[in-house]
Amino acid sequence: MSDYRIKGETGEWEVVIGLEVHAQVTSNAKLFSGAATAFGAEPNTQVSLVDAAMPGMLPTPNMECIRQAVRTGMAINAQINKYSRFDRKNYFYADLPQGYQISQLYHPIVGEGTLEIEADEKAGIAANKVIGVERIHVEQDAGKLMHDQHPTMSYVDLNRSGVALMEIVSRPDMASPAEAGAYLRKLRAILRYVGSCDGNMEEGSMRADVNVSVRKAGDPLGTRTETKNVNSVRFVMQAIEHEAHRQVEVLEAGGKVDQETRLFNPDTGTTRTMRSKEDAHDYRYFPDPDLLPLNLSDEFVAACRDSLPELPDAKRDRYLGLGISAYNAAVLTAEVESARWFDALLDAGAKPVAAANWVASELFGALNRLGRDISDSPVSPAEAAELLGLVADGTISGSIAKQVFEIMLETGDGAAKIVDEKGLKQNSDTGAIEAEIAKVLAANADKVEQYKGGKEALFGFFVGQTMKAMQGKANPQVVNELLKKALG
Ligand code: ADP
Ligand code: MG
Repeated sequence: MSDYRIKGETGEWEVVIGLEVHAQVTSNAKLFSGAATAFGAEPNTQVSLVDAAMPGMLPTPNMECIRQAVRTGMAINAQINKYSRFDRKNYFYADLPQGYQISQLYHPIVGEGTLEIEADEKAGIAANKVIGVERIHVEQDAGKLMHDQHPTMSYVDLNRSGVALMEIVSRPDMASPAEAGAYLRKLRAILRYVGSCDGNMEEGSMRADVNVSVRKAGDPLGTRTETKNVNSVRFVMQAIEHEAHRQVEVLEAGGKVDQETRLFNPDTGTTRTMRSKEDAHDYRYFPDPDLLPLNLSDEFVAACRDSLPELPDAKRDRYLGLGISAYNAAVLTAEVESARWFDALLDAGAKPVAAANWVASELFGALNRLGRDISDSPVSPAEAAELLGLVADGTISGSIAKQVFEIMLETGDGAAKIVDEKGLKQNSDTGAIEAEIAKVLAANADKVEQYKGGKEALFGFFVGQTMKAMQGKANPQVVNELLKKALG
């Protein structure tokens, strides 16, 4: 249980959150037509007769969209319903030419599942916190109305009309804005690993309806409001924060929370009433007579399962098993591109622990500075493996490796070539190192006295001086050993 509470006049309030996430299915064609789905196309250039609801047109399910929904369900350990059915959700709006949305109310394709969010002590998220998922169903998206193109008219763009969405409905299992944020980040990661949605919230391919209620500890669930179509993790967290405080104020003033649909304003971080909330029966749902129920074969379901990649939790556990720290394992698996890059680095022969440290600090640091994503990293996994190999076999020290990496970034040359050309090979010649140590100790006789008198912190100073005298190329391990011997 999260310890997030809102302190009111009458005591502390718990917050209850459930999220309905709409995720646009990655597919070249729409759910029931062959029209294209590319983002950013000219308005109304990706509209088939089906999407425009011309009379007599019939929908045909696109099995690629169905396959992606099934794979997504499997990735959250959910029940897969081989039998599912499409229903019409009836309402009139100018962005919906059919006058109804084809959705799945009574028999969704995916049933109960679970999703484990990342522990975060600072944010009050306990280890192994699991959020229930009630269902995933597939449905059509609507078109888009544009109100800001003309002073007195609105336009409609039907490119999005009929695009396949997965609606992923959570249980009301989240108890703080931080938990809701962690849920969205994890869900986004899973969708991207699976490849069923690009998770791009800015472009609207993933958006959340945020259900919030408040209650006193031990009370039954309170009345919820639903804030629609929030399109970033941060905004979802802000909307919850604002909405929970607003509800506490209403209740403490003796009022009651209306079950309603609200809108989030990103400029102010607040929510406002949009309309009173409809119930399912308001939509006159009924089975779509144009579509047969879906009956998935065992082969289809098995093929979906076989096509799943290693998922974030399994990958993290595998990394932990290789001795990689919990922090690095979390950082490396958070984004599918980093995880794949790191796997390629391991395949190229890099040692896991050193490789994880290097990627999490050196590579990510460099990418940050260059403003680049790992998918267009200036060094390849094979090139990085060559560099790390030189450290592993003692050819260069860790600090020289940093210099070599900088030169790799500047010139694009390979690590071995740079080490050769610049003469950066590490010196493990004990005779040469001993000679330098003798000089350093002679030049710092006072400090040697202090060291022998108990000031052991000076050891680092002697190491530093010796390394400096050898232009950083002495093998630090050998320097350490020989210094200890020399200082008795
Ligand atoms: P609808 O489809 O009409 O929005 P659902 O019953 O499917 O309604 O619930 C939608 C979402 O609301 C789910 O994510 C669920 O977890 C959440 N929810 C239900 N009751 C509450 C509540 N009292 N407080 C917060 N969230 C809730
Ligand atoms: Mg809803």
